[in-house]
Amino acid sequence: MLDSYGRKIEYLRISITDRCNYRCVYCMPPEGVEKMEHCDMLTLEEIEEIARAFVRLGVKKLRLTGGEPLARKGLVDLCRRLGAIEGVEDISLTTNASLLAPVAAQLREAGVRRVNVSLDTLDAEKFKKITRVGRLSDAIEGIRAALAVGMSPVKLNTVLIGGFNDDEIPALVGLTRLYPVDVRFIELMPIGHTTEFGAEAYLPCSVVLERVPELTPAGTDGGVAKLYTLPDALGRVGLISPLSSHFCAECNRMRLTSDGKLKPCLHSRQEIPVRGLHGEELEAAIKNAILCKPQMHVELSAEHRSESARNMNQIGG
Ligand code: SAM
Ligand code: SF4
Repeated sequence: MLDSYGRKIEYLRISITDRCNYRCVYCMPPEGVEKMEHCDMLTLEEIEEIARAFVRLGVKKLRLTGGEPLARKGLVDLCRRLGAIEGVEDISLTTNASLLAPVAAQLREAGVRRVNVSLDTLDAEKFKKITRVGRLSDAIEGIRAALAVGMSPVKLNTVLIGGFNDDEIPALVGLTRLYPVDVRFIELMPIGHTTEFGAEAYLPCSVVLERVPELTPAGTDGGVAKLYTLPDALGRVGLISPLSSHFCAECNRMRLTSDGKLKPCLHSRQEIPVRGLHGEELEAAIKNAILCKPQMHVELSAEHRSESARNMNQIGG
């Protein structure tokens, strides 16, 4: 289906839980967030029903995110059921990968052909610092497992944070020479729990090209990343710049929160409840939400924060 600005909406991101085993500094407060009651969360059957309605309206690509999607029981079965919907061409996950290794093979068999893994640093102590509780070795094990079961592409998402990981840009880019992975740098967004970051934390992605001038342009990934490669690399480097050069004109996505609200735009307050709707009523609400997509989001900067009323752990990125 086309939105009011002629954009073809083909991609649904589903946050299947707001819970997470990590407490990333830019995403959650140290004590975690007040837990949503289980009964307020969409059941897996409800998620499937809403996804089916989206697919009838033209969505082809589904991504499960969170919180941490692997923290929700029944994920593998959900993936299998979503993958069986006629018209679904692609199912993927965005995950911190800490719980991925034991289920990577089952996920692959259930139809998950690729994953995006969040990895902000290659230093174990810094990893602990940014996630507050996580172990780098768990994430690496998850990434290795994804590669071992043949997931492709495996994309590593690094939130670029000035003064924290900009010194690691060459090492992170260098991973694409060593492994068949795409490394994507994402500008830190002023949303949710980022108030403790000063203006210096907000670096434009162009800094990656300054630090690694050998990178040469390689088009786009059909999504929001501008791609680059190193000579002889096995993987690519992606730059995702929601602040310095927003990509609203190409936005083809809708988001579903774990409590059953549609978000037409990541950075807008607007939400459309769909829980409890079925059949034509559900489709009508989805169409309405698609038509509510704004032409572009507000300009974001350290001073001008996102207008979203939610934290990232509730939206899923
Ligand atoms: N737990 C999973 C993970 O970390 O990949 C999925 C959910 S997480 C909210 C999705 C993505 O949002 C992660 O790549 C995370 O780094 C990113 N993210 C969270 N807060 C962010 C922020 N303030 N700015 C930019 N990216 C952010
Ligand atoms: Fe959890 Fe992902 Fe948020 Fe980190 S970014 S706290 S892993 S939901």
